[in-house]
Amino acid sequence: MERRNVEPFKWGRRLAAPVKVLRLQDGDFAGKRVLVRVDFNVPLNRGRVADDTRIRAALPTLDHLRAAGAKVILLSHLGRPKGQRVPEASLQPVAKHMTKKLGIETAFASDCIGPEAERQVHALQDGEVLLLENVRYHSQETEGDDGFARQLASLGDCYVNDAFGTAHRAHASTTGIAHHLPAYAGLLIEKELRALGDALDEPARPFTAILGGAKVSDKITVIERLLEKSDQIVIGGGMAFTFLKAMGHDVGKSLVEEDKLDLATELMARAKAAGVDLLLPEDVEEAKEFSPTAPHRAVKVDRMHPDWMGLDIGPLAMERFAEVIASSGTVLWNGPMGVFEWEPFQFGTRAVANALVDCHGTTVVGGGDSAAAAKKFKITDQVTHVSTGGGASLEYLEGKELPGIAALEAAAKNHAGAPSVA
Ligand code: AMP
Repeated sequence: MERRNVEPFKWGRRLAAPVKVLRLQDGDFAGKRVLVRVDFNVPLNRGRVADDTRIRAALPTLDHLRAAGAKVILLSHLGRPKGQRVPEASLQPVAKHMTKKLGIETAFASDCIGPEAERQVHALQDGEVLLLENVRYHSQETEGDDGFARQLASLGDCYVNDAFGTAHRAHASTTGIAHHLPAYAGLLIEKELRALGDALDEPARPFTAILGGAKVSDKITVIERLLEKSDQIVIGGGMAFTFLKAMGHDVGKSLVEEDKLDLATELMARAKAAGVDLLLPEDVEEAKEFSPTAPHRAVKVDRMHPDWMGLDIGPLAMERFAEVIASSGTVLWNGPMGVFEWEPFQFGTRAVANALVDCHGTTVVGGGDSAAAAKKFKITDQVTHVSTGGGASLEYLEGKELPGIAALEAAAKNHAGAPSVA
């Protein structure tokens, strides 16, 4: 395969270790068999795709490659079949959905390696698309087995990783193939890295991080990292109660991580020392029990009932948080403000979502539950970026290396250092 000398693109110019990868625009894909790792881990309902957000997120890359004349071979996982051919985890419904609903004629091979996959790849014409069966039907995928990666790599001339949602996993199809073929970042990965990287690295100020969700323990590293980068940290959701208790409030039966009280105190002290405003709710919506039909009411945090539990932020907190968000230069949101799945306790999360829309700055939603909330409250198209990767975006925000990205970086280094060969 022809190799052009291309200077890998860098994200995060001021980061200690900027990300350098090859992008689609650096490659010549005409007539090439291009293996594309996508994240088509979509919810299915009675054998049909119930939500095609992840498929749509990969379309810019597919369009680019098809327009460039590539033979596009798609690889993905679905669910956790653990090396078994579990019919419910088949990707066949995705191929049907792409063909029928998205207008992209997509062939399907019932295995991702072996004679049938080879035959179907061989039959592909330029611009055509083939989806291979679930890579996790083979246990070697999650084991990161190099022999399996080689078998997959033998089906293509080059590799594109566009599966940001699994970039935090070191699996054969997310990292292994990049060792054997010229490897490029797809447009979705490029967009994700740019949005998350720029928010962290060069935020327009004030930079506000909003953190929520159930547990402090899941977000400690993120909080620590954001203490160095942000101007304001807003904390809601279940995790707020550990901080409120650490401040001396009686939070009743609310979710509290007793073993994290000292840590919460320490984080608050560190925020103060760093000049970062750490905002907690001044009032909450408390409920008699953990149920969507429980009696509930808004109270100030110093008036909570000893037997009730906080399941959402209260109206004063909603107003204050919304003000802070709307006047920020950059907002990064990770985690709901309450039990937003239940109607009576969705208002705090909804208020944050709406405040993001009112913000004139850069607004980034960090995947997982926050992405689900963004969708529920229909703000997805009104923010700068909604990450497609819950776990991956959290690990990226924590400053961890994502193996999928690291493999692309390593491949880019080899590529740039290698002489041009025909
Ligand atoms: P996480 O996975 O840590 O982002 O947490 C998300 C979950 O936290 C959601 O399912 C919410 O229902 C839940 N959650 C948010 N606020 C609370 C709260 N105050 N008490 C209990 N669970 C909550």
